[in-house]
Amino acid sequence: MFLRFFLTLICFIVITASLTAMVVLVRSPAESFGETLVSVLLAVMLVTLLTVGPAYYLTRNFIRPLVELVEGARRIADGEYGHKVYTGGRGESHTLARTFNSMSERLAAQFAQLEEDSHQLRTILSGMVEGVVAVDADQRVLFANERAAELLDFDLATAKDRKFWEITRQRHLQAIVARVLQGSEPHREEFDWKSPTARYLAVYAAPLRGTRSQGAILVLHDTTELRRLERVRQEFVANVSHELKTPLSVIKACVETLLDGAVEDSSARLGFLEQIAEQSDRLHNLILDLLTLAQIEAGAEYLEIEPVRVEHAVAECFDRLRPRADAKNITLKLHCTPECRLLCVWADEEALSRILDNLIDNAVKYTPAGGQVEVRWHATAETVCLEVEDNGIGIPERDLPRIFERFYRVDKARSRELGGTGLGLSIVKHLAHGMKGTVKATSTLGQGSKFTVCLPRSRDAET
Ligand code: ADP
Repeated sequence: MFLRFFLTLICFIVITASLTAMVVLVRSPAESFGETLVSVLLAVMLVTLLTVGPAYYLTRNFIRPLVELVEGARRIADGEYGHKVYTGGRGESHTLARTFNSMSERLAAQFAQLEEDSHQLRTILSGMVEGVVAVDADQRVLFANERAAELLDFDLATAKDRKFWEITRQRHLQAIVARVLQGSEPHREEFDWKSPTARYLAVYAAPLRGTRSQGAILVLHDTTELRRLERVRQEFVANVSHELKTPLSVIKACVETLLDGAVEDSSARLGFLEQIAEQSDRLHNLILDLLTLAQIEAGAEYLEIEPVRVEHAVAECFDRLRPRADAKNITLKLHCTPECRLLCVWADEEALSRILDNLIDNAVKYTPAGGQVEVRWHATAETVCLEVEDNGIGIPERDLPRIFERFYRVDKARSRELGGTGLGLSIVKHLAHGMKGTVKATSTLGQGSKFTVCLPRSRDAET
């Protein structure tokens, strides 16, 4: 560009000088034409030589900065922020070029900052557990994040610029958007979500007031799990209250009857005192089970995992429960091959005892007199699986998936009568999971049940 201007200027000077020379030559007398021609040619050459310097100076200091500025402005308009121009001119053009460069530099920095902010904002919105959708005044989608696409079940890639009612068929949600676009108040609501699975959705909708556009923004939160937890908590509180109320009512009634005079009747007194003792035991067991569950659910470091020999744990449990089994004439059988004798698991000794106590106690409780409870175990490379099998009343198939829930009983009256709290299997499940193990149950109604607990094997300790 610079060279082009410079050469154009030189050409202009040469042409002007040549034209002047031609006029001089045409007017000169014929006899002195030769002399005049030489003088004119010399003059043209001299003029050309003398003007090269000023032309170069003029081009370099005034024309080049201007040309560069025009080119620089065009590049910036095309988005090439930060583009710099030649600053070698003098005076005003030098100042102009430097100001242009600093403006371009600031523009580039601001644009980079804007891009970074926008990127950050998008990353935050993408990572949110809440769904976010922004629409303009015509209900066209301006922005939507991944979670919104997941919750409302639309294709994120094609959502932009589509009408809101095209991306979701939920009339309730469409009505909320329409209401917020008409009014100016934010709106908050929780409602049942009409989807293949029952869900709850909390929606916060607010007007979107931009400098150029207006619209609405929706924040969607799936509250299904929260609602479920709330329901579980309410059920649990109701169950606990009920379980506490029943024995307390019996104790209260017995005490009142004794105070009303039955204490004087020696034959009746013993009966009432026995009932009080029995219900107190029940309350005591319930509170112990509740405390255990609370401790497990608080997630405290309550387990001390170490190698535990399975045979010892089972034998100790048998010793504790034999009197109960004997009272019902139930045989406790321990099936143990010589290889099984050495097997060890990674477990908390007390937790493993608790698991075995609950399972074997249940087996004894729910097996009619004269029955049999057998405990056996076997190992794979990584785990040891313990089985507690009885030939008792069994569990109906429809109840099997629920027996590990808190307070779930197949037959409430029978469980209470046998002194059950309804928490035993729930504790077993939590303890087994806490030791990285599993528990499952199989059963045939009227024939018996089998509970299998698998725990990580501790090979090093098996010597
Ligand atoms: P409970 O204190 O009532 O025994 P659990 O949580 O230990 O509570 O057991 C839950 C329910 O599972 C029991 O009420 C009973 O209906 C059923 N159940 C557990 N073990 C057995 C078993 N070995 N045979 C038959 N039913 C059982």
